[in-house]
Amino acid sequence: MRLERNLDRALSRFRPSLVGITAYTCDYNSTLSVLREVKKFDANIHTAVGGIMPRCFRGLRPAACRCPLHRAVGRLLQGVCRLEGRRPERRRRPEYRPGQRRDSPDDGPGPVSKDLDLLPFPDRSLTRQYRKRYRDNMNNKTGLIMTSRGCPFRCSFCANWKIMGGKYLARSAESVVEEIAAMPEEVELICFADDNTLLNIRRAWRLVELVRERGIRKKFMMYARADTIVEIPTSWKP
Ligand code: SF4
Repeated sequence: MRLERNLDRALSRFRPSLVGITAYTCDYNSTLSVLREVKKFDANIHTAVGGIMPRCFRGLRPAACRCPLHRAVGRLLQGVCRLEGRRPERRRRPEYRPGQRRDSPDDGPGPVSKDLDLLPFPDRSLTRQYRKRYRDNMNNKTGLIMTSRGCPFRCSFCANWKIMGGKYLARSAESVVEEIAAMPEEVELICFADDNTLLNIRRAWRLVELVRERGIRKKFMMYARADTIVEIPTSWKP
């Protein structure tokens, strides 16, 4: 709704069966008012709330379902499949060429697998109409990508490890570069929406190699710890 501010018009045009809202704790009141507006439009629309908030949305049922962030993907998929009266499909692990390295944790296939490589890429054609307004502070046309989730560190000022249970999951560099290569051509800046992008340093440098191999020329922006920014694996040859 940052870009599509008229909720009623959007609901009339799209006629959704499920509305999802991302919210921080400070968005509690506006989230409730959006939920009420959705239910007023059509009480049969299912609603879900996700995002970084601790317990404040606990009382929302039956207005919305909510689940912990690190389980959200699998739970949302299961919920959508249930609405459609079908079972979640078991997706196949992507194939990579022999010799390519994969550094993702491997928790086995399945709809609630933690292997982020199994998730489909976002369908950016759905947001094409808003694209010219996706800009960073420097006015670059921006494309967001999430290549990992969580962080294993325990910085006292940070909420991440409380929310994600201190877990860290990462996509393989091969999967990340495929998604970057598939970004709309007009995107100038790739913004990594990770909490700690360079944690797996081998994966980070593998990504550098693959970006160079593919001849991708974009600007990149990411959050990373200073100690990982200066680290170069001994095996890496520029
Ligand atoms: S390294 Fe960054 S993301 Fe990880 S706990 Fe510390 S501040 Fe949070």
